[in-house]
Amino acid sequence: MLTSNEQLRYSRQLLLKGFSETEQLQLKNAKVLIVGLGGLGNPVAMYLAATGVGQLILADGDNIDVTNLQRQVMFHTEQVGENKAEIAFQHLTKLNPEIDIEVIDEMLDDEQLDYYASEMDLIIDCTDNLSTRYAINLACVNHKTPLISGAAIRFEGQLFVINPTADDYACYECFYPKNKGEPALNCSTAGVLGPVLGVIGSMQALEAIKLLTKKQTSANKIKLFDGLSGQWQEFKIGKRSNCICNNK
Ligand SMILES: [Zn+2]
Repeated sequence: MLTSNEQLRYSRQLLLKGFSETEQLQLKNAKVLIVGLGGLGNPVAMYLAATGVGQLILADGDNIDVTNLQRQVMFHTEQVGENKAEIAFQHLTKLNPEIDIEVIDEMLDDEQLDYYASEMDLIIDCTDNLSTRYAINLACVNHKTPLISGAAIRFEGQLFVINPTADDYACYECFYPKNKGEPALNCSTAGVLGPVLGVIGSMQALEAIKLLTKKQTSANKIKLFDGLSGQWQEFKIGKRSNCICNNK
């Protein structure tokens, strides 16, 4: 049962067709790990906290830098030098005191990822490096934990929902095999515009809410966003026969 406070707080989404107390309780009972509290993790964490996801775990080992502030909109200038996950915790606790939030102020290693993948209902990858993406993907494949991956650079973004509970699902390595190597570009060398991260992070949060409330999600498809033209493109991703996700 929702409390009267919760009914009031979430009243605008409880008005929605297909979103009743059942769905709100599904969110309340959900455990979600957000890896990376940067440009994507900011909007993901804010929307999931506001929507009422009951248990959020925020993981980031980085401190806020002044160059983050053009896109990481949860952070303030006087917080430069502070840990991102800790500051996000302070912000989100004020935003929604009805939920539980836990902080991990370091980047997760393989063992920690394996543990959290076994415990979580969903992991959201908001990181910006490929080796962490592979490690999160592997842990999610091993424990059949759904994963929502997002990325953005320059004016472009991508979104990929991986649902290992579905038959013939494709994983991150099906889409981007390890032998492709590390991309030459990242946000610190190629740049990125803040609202593009806002678009992709909001989409990650939206897919998360749909997945946790048992609605249809866009698994096995990668969505690409071009911020300059404002257009989305969608590509089907097939399972690769020699991928780590086979027979799992
Ligand atoms: Zn795969």
